[in-house]
Amino acid sequence: GSADAEYDVVVLGAGPGGYSAAFRAADLGLKVALIERYSTLGGVCLNVGCIPSKALLHTAAVLEEAKTMGAHGIHFAEPKVDIDALRKHKEAVIGKLTGGLAGMAKARKVTVVHGVAEFADPHHFSVKGADGKTQTLKFKSAIIAAGSQSVKLPFFPEDERIVDSTGALELRSIPKKMLIVGGGIIGLEMGTVYSALGSRLDVVEMQTGLMQGADRDLVKVWEKRNAGRFDRIMLETRTIGAEARDDGIWVTFEGKDAPSEPQRYDLVLQAVGRTPNGKKIGAENAGVIVTDRGFIDVDQQMRTNVPHIHAIGDIVGQPMLAHKAVHEAHVAAEVIAGEKAAFEARVIPSVAYTDPEVAWVGLTEDEARKSGVKIQKGLFPWAASGRAIANGRDEGFTKLLFDAETHRVLGGGIVGTGAGDLISEVALAVEMGADVVDIAKTIHPHPTLGESVGMAAEAAEGTCTDLP
Ligand code: FAD
Repeated sequence: GSADAEYDVVVLGAGPGGYSAAFRAADLGLKVALIERYSTLGGVCLNVGCIPSKALLHTAAVLEEAKTMGAHGIHFAEPKVDIDALRKHKEAVIGKLTGGLAGMAKARKVTVVHGVAEFADPHHFSVKGADGKTQTLKFKSAIIAAGSQSVKLPFFPEDERIVDSTGALELRSIPKKMLIVGGGIIGLEMGTVYSALGSRLDVVEMQTGLMQGADRDLVKVWEKRNAGRFDRIMLETRTIGAEARDDGIWVTFEGKDAPSEPQRYDLVLQAVGRTPNGKKIGAENAGVIVTDRGFIDVDQQMRTNVPHIHAIGDIVGQPMLAHKAVHEAHVAAEVIAGEKAAFEARVIPSVAYTDPEVAWVGLTEDEARKSGVKIQKGLFPWAASGRAIANGRDEGFTKLLFDAETHRVLGGGIVGTGAGDLISEVALAVEMGADVVDIAKTIHPHPTLGESVGMAAEAAEGTCTDLP
């Protein structure tokens, strides 16, 4: 290789964790290099995750809303879908953002190195470029932000009609019949897109319900609105085999809702979770401990067992979310720059950007019941919201959960259009240690959906219904 270039910090991986860490470290005056194997920055989130999925979900939402306009006396023609143009639109959205990142890296004098990196020893990365040449980067500190990839089911054959989320986002064609394997957020978001484009859906989930982690009352509202998109919702059921034939992928199921015969699909989406990339970065060469499942354990300063090597994002554990990665990134960079910083977020919000959206943060009712924390709740049904009715979308509700004794807000959940945007106020309340009355006394603008958070707080103040 070439002579060593030496950096204060080298960041491995340019996803939301990696680029945020590199930018913050550069802003704090450090000499920074950022290594990425792909040609664009942004990682999973910008290239094949959060952003392309939301671009397509926006299209889906407009399509669905247009269908309801007849009731307003507005009549559109049947939509014609040009999938090549839609794909180009999605790629333009990604390009705008990843290009922006490249510009920001340049402006901050962050050296971007393209290639596949491995630790050579505790102070060097070796990076193999697309041209086959290897270069060595020397670092005082390193930040591992190598992210995760989707889990593949071992018994599924190699076939272009069997895809993961990345394949589904490629939008090669619109399947007549699609199977979603795994009823989590990623699978249901992709299902929302394909259904709006005209696909019929089946979903199979091993657990007792879809969208695990969210309270069932929230999920029920989504289910009611979306039941018509699905031919089968199979719970406590698993796929046990798949055969690729000319006429489709034939899938066999086992469990509670399993059909006795194999079912035919034009597209099968595997969305059964993501696995961290910890075992692929030569961590052993630097003495960094990687767990059996490929995660890297860190402390509140995001340090691994090797004190000058930090790790952030999907690779350090659940929840695998971009906003968590960004916050961890800032902590790692600040600690390396000598600042006192720690990752001590009380709560990390979760959002399913389905239609309607489902968002929750902090303590859930399920968790409260299991842990025995005595809580009370304030609930506001959107059927009483002027704005939700004006929007023709009053199926949602907003709920706040708070400590029965101190009235401190512990969490909340929202289902309805834009729930993901609305949940931030609840997150702020929990982080600030607000009481439910603080929210009730805050004047919310009328008529907004955001008002529903204030209304839920007022309902709580008025009634204080104990949970069953
Ligand atoms: P990543 O984004 O995975 O980035 C890691 C980077 O490291 C990659 O670019 C990779 O190429 C690079 N890399 C890895 N190994 C090497 C190596 N050896 N050498 C060089 N480079 C390497 N999260 C949300 O918060 N909101 C959402 O709406 C959302 N939607 C999603 C939708 C989908 C379809 C998917 C798949 C994920 C979604 N996520 C969402 C999750 C989010 O994308 C991840 O949590 C986030 O990208 C994690 O960031 P990260 O920096 O840890 O890693």
